[in-house]
Amino acid sequence: MSLLRRRVGFSYLPLLFLLLFSPALCNEAFRCSLCRQVVERGYNVNGKFYCPEHVESILPKCFNCETVIQGDYVAVSALKQPVCLNCREALPQCFLCSLPSDGHRGGTALADGRYACRLHSRGGVTDPEKARQIFQRARRELNQTFAGVLDIKTPIKAVTLVDVNGLKKAAKHSGHSASLSGGKVLGIATVVLFTQGQKTWMDPSTVHLLDHVPETRLLTVCTHEYAHVWHAENHQSYSQTQPILREGFAEWVAYKVAQRFGRLDQIQLMENPNSGIYYQGLQKLLALERQQGISGVLKVATTAISI
Ligand SMILES: [Zn+2]
Ligand SMILES: [Zn+2]
Ligand SMILES: [Zn+2]
Ligand SMILES: [Zn+2]
Repeated sequence: MSLLRRRVGFSYLPLLFLLLFSPALCNEAFRCSLCRQVVERGYNVNGKFYCPEHVESILPKCFNCETVIQGDYVAVSALKQPVCLNCREALPQCFLCSLPSDGHRGGTALADGRYACRLHSRGGVTDPEKARQIFQRARRELNQTFAGVLDIKTPIKAVTLVDVNGLKKAAKHSGHSASLSGGKVLGIATVVLFTQGQKTWMDPSTVHLLDHVPETRLLTVCTHEYAHVWHAENHQSYSQTQPILREGFAEWVAYKVAQRFGRLDQIQLMENPNSGIYYQGLQKLLALERQQGISGVLKVATTAISI
């Protein structure tokens, strides 16, 4: 009997852009695009003219320090919030969205060394019982979305809420350590498969969820982890599957549920092209779904090694 261990996790990468925004001073008389007044000196920004009074109103303001940014900045998180280079370099970043965590502006430092921005400092899930309820809700939503087809037969051993150290422990030997140091893995489902000859069976799984994650996001994480467990249970050779198939499938399931329940913010997070194989795998399966429907995706997901 050989023991195959597979641990699969979940991660989002920050959206990161470097944009150049340099208004050019014009000397000829022109009309301001905002107040329509003709003035002698103004600014040309992306082909539009502004008077000195109004140019500031169209320039990006730093999400954190609210300074008007006249040069380079970084567009952070799925909402592409502008962050000035000072705030980007001087401040720690939010474990969820990579926006600056500024203690003077509502940001917090968590006990395990993570930081949260002012948007994510409150409202995250910290009660283990609540996390279990969210997991059960994710399971119900998943069954509603897929008419019970994705229900798993093996019981889940435990759903635990952990801090980043607990998640690191769960991820040990799983290849998730690198992304964990970046803080973007929000959940890990431990899947243990046994094979003997042609027969494969699965031990009850443990799902580890990271604490301080907002409820809606945690629902998506739970659906993603649940999908991994179903996938492991229903694929003949799960231990041979490529990460793009595993993560792509888990993202596709989470995407379908988010779509069914109208969670556009979650869809926006999953459509972040910077999420690597999560995004690429999702896009491949969405394309497959357009051609062959949901049953076509489930067939490929449970028989193919990669996509
Ligand atoms: Zn995953
Ligand atoms: Zn004006
Ligand atoms: Zn700033
Ligand atoms: Zn944040």
